[in-house]
Amino acid sequence: MSQPLPSLIGMNLDDLTALTAECGLPRFQAKQIARLLYAKRIASIDAMTYLPKAARELMAARYRIGREAPIERVASADGTVKYLFDAGDGCAVESVFIPEADRATLCISSQKGCKMGCAFCMTGRQGFHGNLTAAQIINQVLSIPESEQLTNVVFMGMGEPTDNLEAVISAIGILSAEWGLAWSPKRVTVSSIGRIAELRAIIERTDVHIAISVHSPFHEERLGLMPVERAYRIADVIDAMRDYDFAHQRRLSVEYIVWDRLNDDYRHADALAQLLRGTAARVNLIRFHRIPASTLKPAPMATMEAFRDRLNAAGVLCTIRRSRGEDIQAACGMLAGKH
Ligand code: SF4
Repeated sequence: MSQPLPSLIGMNLDDLTALTAECGLPRFQAKQIARLLYAKRIASIDAMTYLPKAARELMAARYRIGREAPIERVASADGTVKYLFDAGDGCAVESVFIPEADRATLCISSQKGCKMGCAFCMTGRQGFHGNLTAAQIINQVLSIPESEQLTNVVFMGMGEPTDNLEAVISAIGILSAEWGLAWSPKRVTVSSIGRIAELRAIIERTDVHIAISVHSPFHEERLGLMPVERAYRIADVIDAMRDYDFAHQRRLSVEYIVWDRLNDDYRHADALAQLLRGTAARVNLIRFHRIPASTLKPAPMATMEAFRDRLNAAGVLCTIRRSRGEDIQAACGMLAGKH
């Protein structure tokens, strides 16, 4: 089977500048092509009518626009919509559109499956089948029917974004550059389990918000939930975050799934408050959604509220995240795609 032509979607300004040279166009037209691809969302190379016909023909012989519609759409009773995208090699990845009163968020995937093996996550169970390209990442944003309504993007879908660093940074560039979608980077959040060097690269090379999956303040316990703790202790990850200013332009949040009688008592809340002391991090408590063949159980809401109040009393801003899309397996930890 012949390979599809490389896609223009996903190219940054350097890539498009190289493309202009290849097609015999002046360099300044790279920005115009970017605007057509990302802001105007043109559907065909032939529609770039201000380019000479010969250049368009040359480009069309070598490239395609590359915007690919989702292959499946499932809507939840609560308005959440899950989209499935073909990711090649027999794999599919998921994105979740989450409309709320004052915002519309898309939770996007960065990998086909995941290597990290977290005990509570369906994606982790599926194993790793490859990285998404910047084109496949940005395509999720550009190709859903609600694309123009989006106010926020979160890298919290399938995969660990720091494990696909260059493609993720490239996609963030397309979202936030003036020649791209020209979003404020404050509309984008990257969530990571805390691979320190790569996390630093995202913080230093972009201005997006950062979220870290903590889930337990205790080494041994977190290790039982998240194998990454062996290489990157959570205390070291949080310490690394102290090198950056999260009190002003950007936000650091901590994701904490609350499990019944595992990490839901005051001992954990106090240790978490201690871990985060002096960081300006805020905590999102997440209700667990049961997954097959796991003994993990969600903590009761009253326990989550007590946990939240304990953190707030300790001076750590903490909220309980509203759960969305559970009926369509679109809630946190439930994304599995297809392979
Ligand atoms: S929680 Fe995130 S990092 Fe862990 S296995 Fe799932 S997708 Fe990977």
